[in-house]
Amino acid sequence: MYDVIVIGAGPAGSMASYYAAKSGAKTLLVEKSQEIGEPVRCAEAIQSLEDFGIKPSDEFVRSVVVGGYLFSPSGNKVIVRQDKTKGYVVERKIFDKYLAIRAAKAGAKIRVKTNAIGLERDGDYWNVIVEHLGEEKVVRGKIVIACDGVESNMAELAGLKAKKNPMEVCSCAEYEMVNVELLNKNMMEFYFGNNIAPGGYAWIFPKGETANVGLGVRDKKKKAIDYLHDFIENSLAKDRLKNATPVEFKVGGAPVSGPIEKTYTDGFMVVGDAAGQISPLTGGGIYLAMDCGRIAGEVAGKAVKLGKWDEEVIKEYEIRWKEKHYEYLMNHLKYRKILEKMSDDELDILAEALGEEIEDIDLKKFVKTILKKKPSLIKYFKDLIS
Ligand SMILES: Cc1cc2nc3c(=O)[nH]c(=O)nc-3n(C[C@H](O)[C@H](O)[C@H](O)COP(=O)(O)OP(=O)(O)OC[C@H]3O[C@@H](n4cnc5c(N)ncnc54)[C@H](O)[C@@H]3O)c2cc1C
Repeated sequence: MYDVIVIGAGPAGSMASYYAAKSGAKTLLVEKSQEIGEPVRCAEAIQSLEDFGIKPSDEFVRSVVVGGYLFSPSGNKVIVRQDKTKGYVVERKIFDKYLAIRAAKAGAKIRVKTNAIGLERDGDYWNVIVEHLGEEKVVRGKIVIACDGVESNMAELAGLKAKKNPMEVCSCAEYEMVNVELLNKNMMEFYFGNNIAPGGYAWIFPKGETANVGLGVRDKKKKAIDYLHDFIENSLAKDRLKNATPVEFKVGGAPVSGPIEKTYTDGFMVVGDAAGQISPLTGGGIYLAMDCGRIAGEVAGKAVKLGKWDEEVIKEYEIRWKEKHYEYLMNHLKYRKILEKMSDDELDILAEALGEEIEDIDLKKFVKTILKKKPSLIKYFKDLIS
């Protein structure tokens, strides 16, 4: 019997567990993998650690990034600098484990190689059916926080509409490579184009001694891995990748349809990729998973102290995460839908309109600049400015 049962030890789950345990709730975190942080399905970039009170330690930070280069299909380069804020490329295997260790030190119990396979309501409690080394057990809890990632089914079992449309999930393939000639060891590279990565983009992210070279696509014609090989062999970056060799291969899905409609019910919250809390434009979800995990953990802790965990109490979670992140997510969904309608020529014009160098992307300012410089693109942006 636990106060809080957290399912999935990704960034969302470990943050939720940390905050729930810290508030004194008896917390259990279950993870189906035998090792937290494995397998990695990520390009490992996060915009801030400091926002979570986490010191950017050499233990898991591999590169500091201060911006990115955006490449249009024919090679127009836009430099986006984030001089005011730094981001990081982390070693997720170590970072995810670090977050779990932090949760454990705050008092959470962790069970690895423990797969949540069922969820049933039992009065005011949830029974979570877990499978560990071939044995099934029932764990009882007041509050369940589902942080089970893109393949989540816990939210559906709790009665929420959380099923992901496969066409709204970006298929990603990535090599971590050695001997990549980077343009700049503190800048990320992004490549756009309907032949490069339809419905997504390709990336090269510096990662200390290595670099993550990958892409995400939404396409029925070809597999992500085939696009990736094409990118490595034929793209603008091919000369800088010709001596590169992989040390790791990663695949995964990024759910880019925007947040699910409702993220809570009696004694239940869904967080992170499982809730669609990931940018539909960039596929970046670590920061959101961590922040929404923090909110879920705090709300759970508060509910346990109050002795009430029904919908009325738990809805604070949705109110708080929406206040902080809903507009950003919905804007990114709109921008993604615009970008995916553009031909390669139009993407080139867009890059030209942006100019060679811009500061932090302020999306509203960005739209205004485009309209000033290339009114022919107005058809795509008219809904945003009306
Ligand atoms: C190729 C790729 C590149 C990406 N690059 C970036 C990037 O550079 N920056 C960024 O911010 N985001 C990136 N993302 C997205 C990012 O990885 C996710 O948004 C983030 O990991 C979400 O965290 P989470 O805790 O919600 O889910 P996850 O990290 O997926 O964690 C879910 C955990 O739950 C466990 N689990 C699932 N089901 C069960 C179950 N039934 N029982 C027990 N445990 C279970 C899983 O094993 C897993 O450990 C990328 C995604 C992909 C696919």
